[in-house]
Amino acid sequence: MARRLVIIGGDAAGMSAASQARRMTSPDALEIVAVERGSRTSYAACGLPYLVAGLVESPDRLVVRTPEQHRAMGIDVRTRHEAIAIDCGARTVTVRDLGIGRESVEHYDELLIGTGASGIAPQWPGIDAEGVLQLRTLDDAAQVERRLGAGARRAVVVGAGYIGLEVAEGLLERGLDVTVVELLGAPMGAVLDADMAAGVANAMRAAGIDLRLNTAVTGFATVAGRVTAVETATGPVAADLVVIGLGVRPNADLARAAGIGVGETGGIIVDDRLRTDTPHVWAAGDCVESRHRITGRSVVVALGTHANKQGRIAGTNIAGGQAAFGGVLGTAITRFQGVEIARTGLTEREAGAAGFDAIGVTTEASSRAQYFPGAQPMKIKVVAERGTGRLLGAQIVGGEGAGKRIDVLATALWNDMTVEEVGGMDLSYAPPFSPVWDPVLLAAGKAASKI
Ligand SMILES: Cc1cc2nc3c(=O)[nH]c(=O)nc-3n(C[C@H](O)[C@H](O)[C@H](O)COP(=O)(O)OP(=O)(O)OC[C@H]3O[C@@H](n4cnc5c(N)ncnc54)[C@H](O)[C@@H]3O)c2cc1C
Repeated sequence: MARRLVIIGGDAAGMSAASQARRMTSPDALEIVAVERGSRTSYAACGLPYLVAGLVESPDRLVVRTPEQHRAMGIDVRTRHEAIAIDCGARTVTVRDLGIGRESVEHYDELLIGTGASGIAPQWPGIDAEGVLQLRTLDDAAQVERRLGAGARRAVVVGAGYIGLEVAEGLLERGLDVTVVELLGAPMGAVLDADMAAGVANAMRAAGIDLRLNTAVTGFATVAGRVTAVETATGPVAADLVVIGLGVRPNADLARAAGIGVGETGGIIVDDRLRTDTPHVWAAGDCVESRHRITGRSVVVALGTHANKQGRIAGTNIAGGQAAFGGVLGTAITRFQGVEIARTGLTEREAGAAGFDAIGVTTEASSRAQYFPGAQPMKIKVVAERGTGRLLGAQIVGGEGAGKRIDVLATALWNDMTVEEVGGMDLSYAPPFSPVWDPVLLAAGKAASKI
């Protein structure tokens, strides 16, 4: 008889696991049932800001694989079905069909939890008003579209992290007046050092964004249930549309209620094979905590890169293979108009907080040979450990061609290299691509000479 794999959550982690397990096993050996409370599967949430901006022509373009396509692969996908309880002793999941409200009990031999994360939404007065939303799903993007269709002119984005920045860019692109309200003293303040974030603030203001830093939101003013302003500690900001981007917290309540271990970070605890502490229960994606490769600590880094990888690894292991997740560095990239912003490892501030005797060295460089048309300025900050010279992290802010250079530094970091070693690496050069000393080599070399 076929074993039965039940998957909760039909997006990046869940469906990567399903697809991988399906590739490795026949339906005779493994039945795969995936329950998803939404109506879509495998959609690229990462593309939502670009859908809002009008760069992606339709929501369907963001759907990587439809429920029908998964079913054709031999995966029993049940959309509009929500898992409401797990019984690890009986090895069952109680599932509610959201269409007709009926509940059923599904037996599993193996269970994968891929429930993702939810956006943080403080209980501010007025947060439920029409026009106040988050951008996490295609339905949210449709709601933005409806507000624009209804004539929204003034948008306020709460939070200047990755998503806040991308949404602000998209709404500017659509011709709205955009205000960004941020509690910290800099945009991207949680993931960049202040000296690097300054360049992002300049770019936002130059683009016409009213950027209000060090500003606390206290609630929302409404008229007839519709938002009219964001209330802040320094006064109201008029708004027809508000998008909240304050980060996420893992959806781990279902696991916690079933007695499955959840860490202090709020993420489900898993080992490097993505096993939870409960037999036959696996978890992957935004709902889990991962090991940070530099600090060794457990962290929740909610990114699609990890969700896809972890889903695939869990699927491999569930199907009887051997795969392990190597941990995270917090490598990430975004852009605001022409400015590319990227980071990996620890910032100088994070390194200090983690107990490293760290030094941060910033280098100004050019994306191409300076005489070559289109050369763009960039700043690279390298963080290293004093004494050993070990690379601890890096940040890049600069024009086109700057951001993806972070991957070279992430590779070096993954392999525990020193800044001296990075400065001596054999990187490519021709004038259209870099100066003869690539900015990565320059930055690492400068850090090495300071240590
Ligand atoms: C606007 C935006 C931009 C982003 N940009 C990037 C980017 O540029 N780069 C990057 O690496 N990452 C980016 N991300 C993050 C990335 O999208 C997520 O890390 C990734 O989608 C996580 O995948 P997941 O499968 O773990 O969770 P999710 O994608 O959240 O999927 C979880 C699924 O589980 C379902 N579910 C939850 N609970 C239940 C239940 N009880 N029963 C049934 N179904 C349930 C949910 O409906 C959901 O579909 C972005 C995210 C957003 C929102």
